[in-house]
Amino acid sequence: MKTALVTGASRGIGMECAKALAYEGYKVYALWHSSREGIENLCNEISCTPLQCDVRDYGAVMETVKSVPEGIDILVNCAGISEHAVLQDITEEMWDNMFDVSVKSVYSLSKACIPHMINRKWGRIINISSMWGQVGASCEVHYSAAKAAVIGFTKALAKEVGLSGITVNCIAPGVIDTDMNKGFSHEDIAALIDETPMNRIGTPFDIARAVTFLANERADFITGQVLGINGGLVL
Ligand code: NAP
Repeated sequence: MKTALVTGASRGIGMECAKALAYEGYKVYALWHSSREGIENLCNEISCTPLQCDVRDYGAVMETVKSVPEGIDILVNCAGISEHAVLQDITEEMWDNMFDVSVKSVYSLSKACIPHMINRKWGRIINISSMWGQVGASCEVHYSAAKAAVIGFTKALAKEVGLSGITVNCIAPGVIDTDMNKGFSHEDIAALIDETPMNRIGTPFDIARAVTFLANERADFITGQVLGINGGLVL
C-alpha cells in the first residue's frame, strides 16, 4: 500500500485531499498544526494517522517524516495561510512567516521525503500554489510572491528528480470555499462567481480530485506542470 502525507489536513482543501486519498486506498498520514477538532473529525471519518507539526520548523518536519516507518510515497504540500495587507503594511515578520509556511515548508518536506522516493524509484510531490501566484493579487503581495515561488520550486525540482521516477507538479486553485475565504462578503463572492465562466466558486473536492489524479500511475508522464483549477477565472 502506498503512503501519502498531506499537510494542512485538519481543514479545507488538505482535509478533502486526505479523504480522497484514503478512499483511493492509500495509507494516509494527516499533518495538522493547531486544529485539534478538525483532525479528530477527519480521523473519525477515515483511516489515517495524524501527525502534529509546525511546517515552519525545519527540525520538526525532519523528525515528523522520520517517524513514518514505511517512508512517504506521495507528498501533498497543502498547508497555507492568507493575509490581506498593502505592501507598506506588510511587516518583515509577516513576510517571513508567509514564506516559512508557504515555501520553506515545501522545501523541507520535499527534502525529507525524497530519499525514500529515490530508493523506491517512484514518488509524487504535489504542491498547492494559487492562481494568485500566477497573476498576482492586489493587497496580497507576500502571498502572491510565495505562491509564485512554489511554482518555480516545482518546475526546478521536477527537472532534478525526473530520472528517479519522481513527478513534481503544482495545482493553482482559484477561489475555493474554505475558511481561507470566510472574510469575503456575500457581495464579494457573488462578484467572483459572476466573473467565473463556470459560474460558481470551487469546492475542496474539485482540488482533491486533481490531487488523486496526479498521484495515480496514470499521471506518470506529467511533471513540472501547473494545473489551474479555477472554473476559467484565470486562463
Ligand atoms: P484553510 O482552510 O485555511 O486551511 C489551512 C491549513 O493549513 C490548515 O489545515 C492549517 O492547519 C494548515 N497550516 C497553517 N499554518 C500551518 C503551520 N505553520 N504548520 C502546519 N500546518 C499549518 O486553507 P485552504 O483554503 O484549505 O488552503 C489550503 C491551501 O490551498 C493553501 O496552501 C492555500 O494557500 C491554497 N489555496 C487556497 C485557495 C482558496 O480559495 N481556499 C485558493 C488558492 C490556493 P491547522 O488549522 O491545524 O493549524
